[in-house]
Amino acid sequence: MEIFKYKKPLSLMSKSKRFGLLSVTVLIFALGLIIGKGFNYGIDFAGGTLIQVQYEGDAPIKEVRKALEMGAVDTLLLSDALRQYKIDVICPSCGYSGKMIVKDLENIKCPKCSSPLNIKEKHDIIEEYSEMAKQTSTKVEIISRETEEGETLLKAFGGIAGILRYRID
Ligand SMILES: [Zn+2]
Repeated sequence: MEIFKYKKPLSLMSKSKRFGLLSVTVLIFALGLIIGKGFNYGIDFAGGTLIQVQYEGDAPIKEVRKALEMGAVDTLLLSDALRQYKIDVICPSCGYSGKMIVKDLENIKCPKCSSPLNIKEKHDIIEEYSEMAKQTSTKVEIISRETEEGETLLKAFGGIAGILRYRID
């Protein structure tokens, strides 16, 4: 019995890079679907290799830091959409002070009086994660949101996901 009939030879090696990308996409997408559909079978059913955290308002520094400090993360996937700054500001004119998340440090105006604000403290969110990753030899991949993988990463995982070396609770 012949099941497969190849009409021409397949040049698999020349496509190996594409296949590598595809498998990452499938893995992320599969988990995205599971999460999106609301199944909660635990990580055992999902293959035990991914951590998923939401990015809403404050970055989930604590969860990511915990996984990174344990040395559990093999590769950290970050969306370039996270390329933004968390800043502490103070207004020299009216005294307003607060925290904001901005994409660009130029021309930050006071929400009350529109004067230029002074930045007391700033955190580059991607740098913060990368710094943590470096300490445990975790690979970091910044993924553009212009790619399909990047879009999935952003929509399904809030822009951050980690491929784990081993399962954590
Ligand atoms: Zn002001």
